[in-house]
This record gives sequence, structure tokens and C-alpha cells, in this order.
Amino acid sequence: MTILSRKIEIPHFTSIKSDAWEELPQDIIENTPSGTKVILAVDPTVEKLYGKKLKSIFDKHKVSFCDEIIIEDSDQNQVDKLSQLILKNNAGLVLGVGGGRTLDVSQYASHCNKIPFISVPTTPSHDGIFSPVAVIRNNNKTSSIKVNMPLGVVVDLEILQNAPIDLIKAGIGDTISNLSAVKDWQKSYQVKHCKVFDGYSALQSKLAYERLVTIRKMPLNSKEFLQILVEGLILNGMAMEMANNSLPCSGAEHMFSHALDIIGPKRSLHGLQVAVGTLITECLRGEDLTEILKLFDKFNLPKSPYDLGFNKEETLEALKLAPSTRAERYSILNEVEIDEGVIIKLEYWKIL
Ligand SMILES: [Zn+2]
Repeated sequence: MTILSRKIEIPHFTSIKSDAWEELPQDIIENTPSGTKVILAVDPTVEKLYGKKLKSIFDKHKVSFCDEIIIEDSDQNQVDKLSQLILKNNAGLVLGVGGGRTLDVSQYASHCNKIPFISVPTTPSHDGIFSPVAVIRNNNKTSSIKVNMPLGVVVDLEILQNAPIDLIKAGIGDTISNLSAVKDWQKSYQVKHCKVFDGYSALQSKLAYERLVTIRKMPLNSKEFLQILVEGLILNGMAMEMANNSLPCSGAEHMFSHALDIIGPKRSLHGLQVAVGTLITECLRGEDLTEILKLFDKFNLPKSPYDLGFNKEETLEALKLAPSTRAERYSILNEVEIDEGVIIKLEYWKIL
């Protein structure tokens, strides 16, 4: 019998509620050694919209930042700039406030300098808000890098309510994609391509998905819905941390999205692309799409690559290119030839 043990990082604190920012200074005081120097990393939009609010909250509690940086992009250059500030100030914590790019740069720079990072997302657009992976661009190449988990995550539902509705839908899409990802992971294990299928990580991933299936229809920017969505995104991050890879939340539907990014960069959002990718991969698996299409209707999600700005030829090209974006992984795309039969199936479900 094989005895496996594993070390996982879980957050010291998780705060998802209205006015969660008001308690941020206290969260920092309670979870770091006294005198810890904090660097604030924000994206330009957050600085514009909430810069004053954030600073007045910290002033009220007499907590100050030793330095501040505005993160313009998620590239190595920005990581280096933040690293220099960490070293110059002998900082002991980075507070990252903003969208995916700011969080990725903050988390990676903290990881490189062996100091903790607190994630304060202002949109719920993907599961990078709390995960063991940072996506960083270097010399036009984008890499997903394994990093330490955040020390904590603070989500202010009042702030999240102001997120554009498409970014909320993208977060839903990234969670729905778990359905496809877990199937690919299981299949990869069955054909002995990967050595481990961790049922517990898969369970977390499926739980996040199932909560979206069972929730009643309600406004996507309501606090009740955003709470459930963010909890699901955090479950996704924990599933990846437990599996020690992204397999519980990333399969062929993510490869399809990576391929779309190559064919038509920045045309649509990651979460919306993987949502459509999930419909396509479920179709390739020969599944009946009736129920999942109802789920897409409930959240008014895009149901075709056309809705994302990609035509039929580009979609087929992306499907052929997709396996090469994660060549080391096995997925449904290894088992299906993209031919006329596939086109007929996709047309039957009105995906193409
Ligand atoms: Zn994703």
C-alpha cells in the first residue's frame, strides 16, 4: 500500500462580505508580526476609483504603507519593479488590490522575495483571485508559475458589485469549466497518461460547479450571488493547491481558450472563452447538452465562438491548435479528430 502525505497551504484568513475593506488594517495587524512593513500594489483603475477610500480606511486605523506601486501589466518588468521596492523598504507584506494582472504580479513578486501576499480582488473574473498559480508574461511568452498561496483573501462585496457584468460572467464561466476539466483529468488517469487522480481535489472542483447548477436565478451583481461565485472561485484555487497542479480546473476547454488567445488575442475574456470551450468539449465527448445549455441561459453566457468574436474557420483552427498549447497533457482532444462529423455535431447544438 502506498502511503501518501502532502503539504498544502491554506489561507490564514478569508473575508467575503460587505465592507470587508473596513477590516483590512485589522486583518493585517492580526495576521502579521508587529511592525511589518506593507507595500500597496494597485491597478490604475483601482487607484482612480478607490485609492482615496483605501487610504482613508488605513489612516483611520493608523496603519500606513511603506510604499505604493501602480501595476500596469502582468509582465516580468512589473515584477522586477515591485521586487526592488520590497528590497529597498525591507517590506514584509504585499497587499495586492485589483484585477488579475495586479494580483499575479503582487503574488509572484512576494513569492520570489519570500514574503506573504494578501489578495484583494476587485472583480470575480477568474480563479486566479486565490490560487497557487501566477500568470506572468516575459519576452512575449506567457507562463503559469507555481507560487505560494496568498496569506489571506479579502473580498468586499460592495466593491465587487461595481464590476462590469461581463467580468462576473467570466468568473461563472471559469467555474463551469471545472465540469470539463475534471473529466479530462479522470480520462488522463484512466489511460495512464497521468499518475494521480486526486478525488478530493476533484470533489472541491465539482462542488464549486454544482453550486452554480443548483442556485436559483438572481441578479448576477447581487451580493448573495457574488458571495457564492467568489466562494466557488476560492474552492477552485484550493482544489489546484491540493492537486499541486491546475488539472482540477483546467482541461481541453482551457487549451481551446489558450489557442483562441493565439489566434485573436484579447478579443474576449478568459472565463467566457473557457465557458464556450466547455460546451465544445462536452459536445466532442458526445454528451447531451440540453441541461448545460439551460445553465448557460440562466446566467446569459455566450454559447458560441461567434459571441466571442471568432468565426467558424478560426474556431476549427483553435480546436486543432489547442492540444499543442499544453502538449504534456491528455484530454478529449487527443481522442477526437476535428472533421466534418464534429462540425455536424457542433452545428446540431447551434455552437457553430
Ligand atoms: Zn481558468
